[in-house]
Amino acid sequence: MHSSILIRDPLLCCRMKDDINQDDVLDTFRGGHVYIEGNRIISAGPEAFTGKADRVIDAGRMLVLPGLVNTHHHFFQSLTRNIYGTRRSELFDWLSTHYEIWRGIGGDAFYISAKTAMAELLRSGCTASSDHLYLFPRNAESTLIDREIGAARELGLRFQPTRGFMSMSKRDGGLPPEEVVQDEEAVFEDIGRLVEAYHNHRSGSMLRISLAPCSPFSITPGSMRRTVEVAEEHGLQIHTHLAETRDEERYCLEKFGKRPFALMRDLGWIRENAWFAHCIHMNDAEIREAGKAGIGVAHCPTSNMRLGSGIAPVKELLGAGAKIGIGVDGSASNDSSNMLMELRNAMLISRLREREFWLDADEVLWMGTMGGAKVLGRDDIGQIKAGKCADISMISMDRLEYAGAQHDPAAAVVFGVAMEAVDHVIVNGRMAVDHGKINGLDDTALIREQQRLSDGLVAMAEKHMRRKLRR
Ligand SMILES: [Zn+2]
Repeated sequence: MHSSILIRDPLLCCRMKDDINQDDVLDTFRGGHVYIEGNRIISAGPEAFTGKADRVIDAGRMLVLPGLVNTHHHFFQSLTRNIYGTRRSELFDWLSTHYEIWRGIGGDAFYISAKTAMAELLRSGCTASSDHLYLFPRNAESTLIDREIGAARELGLRFQPTRGFMSMSKRDGGLPPEEVVQDEEAVFEDIGRLVEAYHNHRSGSMLRISLAPCSPFSITPGSMRRTVEVAEEHGLQIHTHLAETRDEERYCLEKFGKRPFALMRDLGWIRENAWFAHCIHMNDAEIREAGKAGIGVAHCPTSNMRLGSGIAPVKELLGAGAKIGIGVDGSASNDSSNMLMELRNAMLISRLREREFWLDADEVLWMGTMGGAKVLGRDDIGQIKAGKCADISMISMDRLEYAGAQHDPAAAVVFGVAMEAVDHVIVNGRMAVDHGKINGLDDTALIREQQRLSDGLVAMAEKHMRRKLRR
C-alpha cells in the first residue's frame, strides 16, 4: 500500500463535470498532476507538483480517467457464458434454460465466479461495481453475498452488492423453478444480518449493501413493497430489472393488468433511491415521470443486443432528468465484463436510432464514471477532484489500436478497442492493477478453477434435462 501516489504530467486527464449538460463535460487538462494521499485525491490540475510521493507514475503517454463504475451485473453468470442451448434465445426462454443450470451452483462457485467477473472489470478500468445476486439455490449455503464480499476484498474493488431474491415460482405464476425461490421471512432476516455485518454508509465506503428483488415476473407485489420499506429504514438504494422486453410487458399486462412501469410505480418504487436495469420499453409519459422522480437507470447495451431486447431511450431519459449509468449486465448475456467495451457499445447502439438520439464518446465516458456514481447513490467517486476517493484508471496510448487516434485520447478509448488490460488502476488509493497485472491474483489458477466448476454445472444440468447444452 502506498501512502502517497503522484500521477505526473498526464497526456490528458478527465476530471468530469458534475452534470452531463455542462460544456466540456470531461473537464480535461494536459500536463500537470494528480496527487493522492491515503485513499483521497488531494489535488488535480495542470499545475506542476513540486512535492515528493512514495510512488510516482509517469503519465506522459497516458489517458487518466476516474475509475469506471459498473451499475449492473450478475457475477455468477460468468460460469455459464456462451451456452449453446441459449445462444439464439430471447429473455424468457434464455432464463428458463439457465435456471436449470444455475440451481446447481454452490458457495465456492459463487466465490470463484465473482472473482473472475471482478478481475475482468478491474482490467477494463472499473473501480466500483454493483452486483445483482438474486439466485439462492436451495442446496447452496445462505451466505453467498458474504462469499462475493470476500472476493471483492481480496481484489480491492469498491463494491455495492445487492441482496436480491426471487419469491414467486412457476407454481405461483412466476418464471423460476421452485428450487431457486426463497421464503420472504428468511430473505428479510438475511438482509438485516448483511446490513449489520457489512453496510458502511460513510464517505469513502468500500462496501454498501443495496436491495434487489429480481424482476416483476419473479417477485410477489408484497415483497416489492416490503423492500421499499426496509430500504427506507436502513437508508439503502434499491434495484431491479424494468421494461427489458416486450414479453415482460405482456406478462405484467396479463397478470397485473398494468404495464411494468405502472406496476412498479404503484408498488412505491419510482423514487430517487431506486435504480433499474434496462428501461427499454417505456412510453413518453413514463419517461417524463421517471425523470421527474430522479430514478437511476443502468444502461446495458451489449446484453440488450445479445437478447434482442431493444434500444433504451437514453437521450430521452437524460433529458427528462433521470440518472444514467452503464452496466455490463450478467455474463450469460454479454458475455464479458469489459466496461470500456460497454461504453463503446452504448455509443454505437445509439447510432441505430434517429440522429437526435445519438450519443458521443464524451457522453458515454461521463455516464460510465460520474453517471454511474450518481446511479449508485454516491457523491464521493466518479470524478478526479480534491476530496474525492482515489479511484483512477490509466491507459497508455502506445497501443496499435490507438495509433492514428491519439490526437484525442479520451475519444480514442471509446471509438477504438483496447485489446489488453488498461495499464494502472487505483482503487481507494491502492494499486489494484499495476502495469496491466491485477495485484495478488494468479490468473491462470482462477481461469482453470472457474472452467472446472462451469463444466461440472453444465454436465449436471445436461443429465437432469436430458438435453445437450454445449456443442
Ligand atoms: Zn440483469
